[in-house]
Amino acid sequence: MEAFDYLIVGAGFAGSILAERLARGSGKRVLLVDRRAHVGGNAYDHYDDAGILVHKYGPHIFHTNSQEVFDYLSRFTPWRQYQHRVLACVDGQLVPIPINLDTINQLYGLNLTSLEMDSFLAARAEKREVIRTSEDVVVSKVGRELYEKFFRGYTRKQWGLDPSELDAQVTARVPTRTNRDARYFTDTFQAMPSRGFTRMFQNMLDHPNISVLLNTDYREIKNLVPHRELIYTGPIDEYFDFEFGKLPYRCLEFKHETHNREFLQPVAVINYPNDYAFTRVTEFKHLTGQEHPKTSIVYEFSRAEGDPYYPIPRAENSELYRKYQALADATEGVHFVGRLATYRYYNMDQVAAQALTVFAQMAGLSRAEAIELEYEPKLTAVTFPLNGNGSHAVPLRKRRRAVATAS
Ligand SMILES: Cc1cc2nc3c(=O)[nH]c(=O)nc-3n(C[C@H](O)[C@H](O)[C@H](O)COP(=O)(O)OP(=O)(O)OC[C@H]3O[C@@H](n4cnc5c(N)ncnc54)[C@H](O)[C@@H]3O)c2cc1C
Repeated sequence: MEAFDYLIVGAGFAGSILAERLARGSGKRVLLVDRRAHVGGNAYDHYDDAGILVHKYGPHIFHTNSQEVFDYLSRFTPWRQYQHRVLACVDGQLVPIPINLDTINQLYGLNLTSLEMDSFLAARAEKREVIRTSEDVVVSKVGRELYEKFFRGYTRKQWGLDPSELDAQVTARVPTRTNRDARYFTDTFQAMPSRGFTRMFQNMLDHPNISVLLNTDYREIKNLVPHRELIYTGPIDEYFDFEFGKLPYRCLEFKHETHNREFLQPVAVINYPNDYAFTRVTEFKHLTGQEHPKTSIVYEFSRAEGDPYYPIPRAENSELYRKYQALADATEGVHFVGRLATYRYYNMDQVAAQALTVFAQMAGLSRAEAIELEYEPKLTAVTFPLNGNGSHAVPLRKRRRAVATAS
């Protein structure tokens, strides 16, 4: 059986980036294994039966403030500039979310200025001595009525919990704007891989030192494949056979549909905070820019059971995670990386940054150096005579090839 330096579990952002850096950066031999039928993890996209590029596990929009992460990923894909906009269906109207000046004016039939909107919200905001829960965050900023219209129902559907039962951090990230900025994200870099995420992953993993094994749980092969170290990007509680109990996750169900018309909705995502069982509907062509006479959409339903998607942000869950983290810290030869192995809701760029940092630590370099690292086979094994002028008889590029062939 072939021996590997690293067995990497999970071909999402965390596993694939580490595979790429270890192989291309350090010359390590890597086996990347995923129990799904594809690479890309939750960011996987593919062409559906109608030939439309869709995201199997819900809409993924790339956004980051990190020049380093953006430059690194740009090695594997060209980008399509894309600014994400979301509307919420409230009181029978489609209005911008995050709440901005247009949201309030449209919803209440007003014509407020930015300054007037400040006073409008201030008059409704409820004073809270301590901000503890998600309800506190929103009610103290925009008041109870907007909280009920935009946040309460959505949060209950999404998390199966009332905002009063969830940590403040869940809604703390959602801004309220008194201007007309309707962008969902405000990061410096916002873009979609021109040919899709999966193509980007395929380019990343296209290296002779990387072997990819799909449809395989790593437990089926871990004792059969010799390897020096393990990189694990799956659920941390599962790794330790749920020794302290299951870490709670919110799960998702996706219902994909194709419609025989060019577009169904004005933007990529419409949220439904109060109506219907689904939380939101995504129309992919807005994200990808694909031109096609038909259109594909996905409905998202939040569920208590199923594949793990969102760690549930409550104090007792963080406590439970810390017990697993202590076990992980004491486990030699295994690196725990990514959203499931660190039980955190991370965006793609955050997972990318985490994986690059882990690689930098392994290589004993700064992150900037680790990103630039290119493995060169050792040249000492074969010697070449020098010409009279001191140059090598074999030009450098050919010489490398000669060494590679010789080894
Ligand atoms: C609905 C949804 C929408 C999102 N939208 C955005 C967005 O717009 N922008 C953004 O930046 N981020 C978004 N994210 C977050 C993004 O999906 C994650 O940041 C990213 O996918 C995490 O990568 P990862 O490698 O840590 O995990 P994953 O992508 O989950 O990869 C882990 C892989 O490990 C495999 N695995 C687990 N256990 C085993 C095992 N025992 N054996 C073999 N394989 C195993 C799994 O099959 C999986 O493929 C979204 C997440 C969700 C759920």
